[in-house]
Amino acid sequence: AAKDAGRSGFSFYRKEMTERAALYLERDRDLRRGFEKDELRLHYQPQVDLATGAIVGVEALIRWQHPIHGLRGADDVVPVAEKSRLIVGIGDWVLREACWQARAWRDAGLPPLRMAVNVSARQMDPDRLPGVVRQILVVTGLDPASLEIEITESTLQNDERCVATLRALKELGVSLAIDDFGTGYSCMGSLKSLPIDRIKIDRSFVQDIPHDRNDEAIAEAIIAMAHRLNLIAIAEGIETEDQKAFLRAQGCEEGQGYLYARPLTADAVAALLREQQQRGDVPRGEERGEQ
Ligand code: C2E
Ligand code: MG
Ligand code: MG
Ligand code: MG
Repeated sequence: AAKDAGRSGFSFYRKEMTERAALYLERDRDLRRGFEKDELRLHYQPQVDLATGAIVGVEALIRWQHPIHGLRGADDVVPVAEKSRLIVGIGDWVLREACWQARAWRDAGLPPLRMAVNVSARQMDPDRLPGVVRQILVVTGLDPASLEIEITESTLQNDERCVATLRALKELGVSLAIDDFGTGYSCMGSLKSLPIDRIKIDRSFVQDIPHDRNDEAIAEAIIAMAHRLNLIAIAEGIETEDQKAFLRAQGCEEGQGYLYARPLTADAVAALLREQQQRGDVPRGEERGEQ
């Protein structure tokens, strides 16, 4: 009987593996088709100056307008794409699309914004990514400093290729942010030695403020550390006034989250920026003399 159980357990396991592999292949094939058919989109989540509430940047977040399943989130795209080099092709598209959008807003007379783009580990190729970014910046005529590359703390690790890529990007004048800070295997040493501009406090440390003293302590410590290292702190996932008030009191400069805005279409961002312009929160692009 034990032998029988073992055998059926094994075949169950094998069946599950086969099913999982088939599901992955199916999702991979569908994503390749969707990418080919131009079904990928970018939404943009405003990043604000916590002191004034003014929008200072946006983060580009990938979406998939699926013909059957409707609008899918990043979690239906990124983990599948990251399993193969597909993420490299999609990543190039994201960079190009985001930079063209930034350019289109500028051409429409909107105030210049920082455009933050997420980049995956597989894209961190020092012989490839800096060249791709440089070409996109030349073609779109964007100020390199207004492009920010976000890499997660776990991508950073202590990988030589990653470090070389970051240095080359920095040489182009692009800014760099460490995403989801506090969740990876942090190498504090690399914060000191790398040309990082901004630290993004992971949403998991923000969501339970003010109820969780430990999360408050962690958020406070990350902000203090960022400042001691001359980096700007930005908090992810701010949903309540309490969270905003706490983070502001700790000196956190910037934030993003549903309290301010969800990820929006490019048109919706433009409408918000226009509103902000009319209220006079931020000088007009042309008045700032931006080219
Ligand atoms: P992330 O870079 O940490 O992006 C922030 C995520 O938090 C986004 O999820 C955003 O929609 C969500 N978010 C923002 N504010 C709030 C809030 O107040 N409450 C809650 N509950 N969530 C909030 P999204 O768009 O599903 O993206 C998930 C992840 O997928 C991103 O995390 C990023 O790691 C990855 N990703 C998204 N777009 C791209 C891309 O173009 N390329 C790459 N490589 N990764 C991407
Ligand atoms: Mg991000
Ligand atoms: Mg993040
Ligand atoms: Mg996060």
